[in-house]
Amino acid sequence: MTEVTWTGKRVTVAGLGVSGIPAARVLRGLGAHVTVVNDGDDERSRAQAAELEALGVTVRLGDGATLPEGTELIVTAPGWKPDKPLFLAAAKAGVEIWGDVELAWRLRATPSGRTPAPWLAVTGTNGKTTTVRMLASILEAAGLRTAAVGNIGVSLLDAVLGDEKYDVLAVELSSYQLHWAPSLRAHSAVVLNLAPDHLDWHGSMEAYAADKGRIYEGNQVACVYNVQDPATEALVREADVEEGCRAIGFTLGPPAPSQLGVVDGILVDRAFVENRQKNAQELANVSDVNPPAPHNIANALAAAALARAYGVEPAAVRDGLRAFRPDAHRIEHVADVDGVAYVDDSKATNTHAAEASLAAYDPIVWIAGGLAKGATFDELVEKSAKRLRGAVLIGADRALIREALARHAPEVPVVDLDRTDTGAMSAAVREAARLARPGDTVLMAPACASMDMFTNYNKRGEAFADAVRELAPERD
Ligand code: ADP
Repeated sequence: MTEVTWTGKRVTVAGLGVSGIPAARVLRGLGAHVTVVNDGDDERSRAQAAELEALGVTVRLGDGATLPEGTELIVTAPGWKPDKPLFLAAAKAGVEIWGDVELAWRLRATPSGRTPAPWLAVTGTNGKTTTVRMLASILEAAGLRTAAVGNIGVSLLDAVLGDEKYDVLAVELSSYQLHWAPSLRAHSAVVLNLAPDHLDWHGSMEAYAADKGRIYEGNQVACVYNVQDPATEALVREADVEEGCRAIGFTLGPPAPSQLGVVDGILVDRAFVENRQKNAQELANVSDVNPPAPHNIANALAAAALARAYGVEPAAVRDGLRAFRPDAHRIEHVADVDGVAYVDDSKATNTHAAEASLAAYDPIVWIAGGLAKGATFDELVEKSAKRLRGAVLIGADRALIREALARHAPEVPVVDLDRTDTGAMSAAVREAARLARPGDTVLMAPACASMDMFTNYNKRGEAFADAVRELAPERD
């Protein structure tokens, strides 16, 4: 990697926002001439622009399309689509484009006298945040100085440039971020799973998969893949890695050599052990995983594989998994009322995520619906039909789910709630309670985005939990 001389370098930062503002500040601090371009020109961006201008940054509001004269490098917000006119102009002019992750990766060696912390990197369509948090918990249990960074917690730039000295970082990366991070080289990395998502941005499933696959490029120790999702293994085969880097699988079944898996309720490692043809190492019990739903055990195995690749001892894997607490609204058990469990998986905003949580319970009264984002529901309903006691549908695109239920689960009772007011979730929970019998689970895993009825998935989850609490006194 060639050393970048920042003093006087003309850098254009695309997008005022969570990644653009810190990037502009840092680059200005390094002596670059920074121009920020931004499509929007509202009150908030004007205030942000004024703060940056006080530092000597130039800001152009209301024009994110024109390439500023003399630009030598673009640092873009990860969400900006590659076919934007700004990028086409940059390509024509031979100007390099970095995302926020590429910038952090390149700057990680900047604080002098510091050895940059290696990155253990996680991507996938679903389960990234959970896996990264589990991984950080395991690394902490091993006594390492670490942080969960990326889309969560500490920002990447802060992690690499801040005062805190880390031994190793657990890094969550989205497909957008990977698209704009050509020189990233992780110590080890995992693609947890691959299902169609964000295809409007990437252009095709192939392009989406290729961007996810970049996470394996140049890995030093292990490329971790999902045995049950062959597309992830294919990405490992295509990657150009460091000499000696190993392909390590994780599976919910018994592991083959060079895999981690599950035997008789125990998570076992047949990858990072002596004589892996004959030996296996116990890591933890399935019951140490919180909650022990199948997809979450897969997340735990992936986190364990990365930690083991980094040299963490088995006992720390167990302790770290035990200490891990899931974030809110991810298959969160809210309460039991009249022998029925109420589970909030508001974060299941796509069908792949909802399929995973529907696989974890039986029988289920399913609360679903919202904004479908172009998804179809036939496969999801077909796979889950056997476990459904009933369904309660809410939100703008509920007809799509109702039709899929009619096609693949005609015997399942369906309540179609034709209302989107603030009381709709309470009504949905009451209807679900009516359908449920003791021993059932009422699962709110909508398979849809929430913005038709709620500000975000957190608010949707809170509305569900409130509605469950309203229910409880009625039954006492
Ligand atoms: P991400 O950061 O990728 O959005 P999260 O860890 O926040 O992932 O989980 C989001 C949702 O995806 C969860 O609420 C759950 O429904 C589902 N999920 C989590 N892990 C998996 C997995 N390994 N496979 C499929 N779905 C999963």
